[in-house]
Amino acid sequence: MKSFDVVIIGAGAAGLMCAISAGSRGKSVLVLEHARKVGRKILMSGGGRCNFTNMYTEPDNFLSQNPHFCKSALSQFTQWDFIAMVEKHGIPYHEKTLGQLFCDNSSKDIVDLLLSECQAVSVDIRTRAEVTAIEPLASGFQVNCGSQSFRGQSLVVATGGLSIPSMGPHGFGYKIAEQLGLSMVKTRAALVPFVMDKQWQSCFSELSGSSLDVVATAGHQSFREGMLFTHKGLSGPAILQISSYWRSGEKVTLDLLPNTDIAAELITARESSPNIYLRTWLARLVTKRMAEAFCRHWFEDLPLHQLSNKKIQEIATKINHLSIMPNSTEGYKTAEVTLGGVNTDHLSSKSMMVQDIPGLYFIGETVDVTGHLGGFNFQWAWASGWAAGQHLE
Ligand SMILES: Cc1cc2nc3c(=O)[nH]c(=O)nc-3n(C[C@H](O)[C@H](O)[C@H](O)COP(=O)(O)OP(=O)(O)OC[C@H]3O[C@@H](n4cnc5c(N)ncnc54)[C@H](O)[C@@H]3O)c2cc1C
Repeated sequence: MKSFDVVIIGAGAAGLMCAISAGSRGKSVLVLEHARKVGRKILMSGGGRCNFTNMYTEPDNFLSQNPHFCKSALSQFTQWDFIAMVEKHGIPYHEKTLGQLFCDNSSKDIVDLLLSECQAVSVDIRTRAEVTAIEPLASGFQVNCGSQSFRGQSLVVATGGLSIPSMGPHGFGYKIAEQLGLSMVKTRAALVPFVMDKQWQSCFSELSGSSLDVVATAGHQSFREGMLFTHKGLSGPAILQISSYWRSGEKVTLDLLPNTDIAAELITARESSPNIYLRTWLARLVTKRMAEAFCRHWFEDLPLHQLSNKKIQEIATKINHLSIMPNSTEGYKTAEVTLGGVNTDHLSSKSMMVQDIPGLYFIGETVDVTGHLGGFNFQWAWASGWAAGQHLE
């Protein structure tokens, strides 16, 4: 059985960064990846241009049962460290919005960067190598992969979450955690579109493809970003963000025109332009298509002088405080990430090592740390991978 200082299961963002980090310390590193290619999620990310980090990364951008857990790893390998790597490789990039950094050309640039860094420190990467079982040994771990077995003094589990089931197999890291008696924080799909009920769909599926800037609120959390109407319900950055905070059966509030106090504006317009119709007035603030749909399904299209104060208040509530009850989300099929995962109570926040099982590490999306939309999930993968690679024996 061939032996390595460290065996890493999964050649995604976290696994490859861990390999670079450990390799740069002179460790012999084997990475086992079940797929034909490494970094498949990197390749499909950011619409093919990989939103590889966020300039404003802070611990507040992450959800976890222990909100402090992510701090140590994020400080050991920051967004600036990853940006320095990107610049060292001459990869052109730009800020799209809100500190989100994307490749100018292609996500493949990031995979090539990781592979070239791995090569520079002699990491052994094997694809089409699905790990099916692991066994703790008296010293180190045995990893079974098809007909082959390897021994790692350290073992790093970087097998990701449950999203995009067609890319399977999924959940191997959770299975190992359970096998070793570690508790899990219940998993669910996050950064995922909402599915609305049939009544909503019949009213607003006609707006499918239209978007507007909104504030979406669930509980105490709000996001101001774009929202997209879809055939099934709602999507777009504001909805994906708030989906991570939403729980089935709860309401979400939407301000469809965050810069406009609709009640005050309508009262003024009723004085200055009493004869124009509500639909025409609304079409100055949203698209004509939206104004028509809102007037067909929500409001009576009256001349403004016929709107009572009570009616104006009702219109304002629908636009500035629209309360919706999503039926469900689209689930793992379209979710960008998995919330929950290996309970951080078991892990050292400095090294990502399981406290009671020396030599075993969990990193990346497998762990109960989930970022907001905008490059934060990759930053967590880079940071947690780097931290483990720096501390493993
Ligand atoms: C469509 C989409 C777009 C996204 N866009 C962005 C973005 O632009 N910015 C951002 O920050 N985040 C984005 N994300 C989220 C981001 O991709 C993940 O958070 C990140 O890839 C997690 O990295 P990871 O290494 O932990 O897991 P993964 O990237 O999922 O890697 C896990 C690897 O382990 C392998 N594996 C699993 N089981 C086994 C096994 N038993 N044996 C061997 N190998 C195994 C898998 O094949 C996979 O290669 C996106 C996600 C999706 C789905």
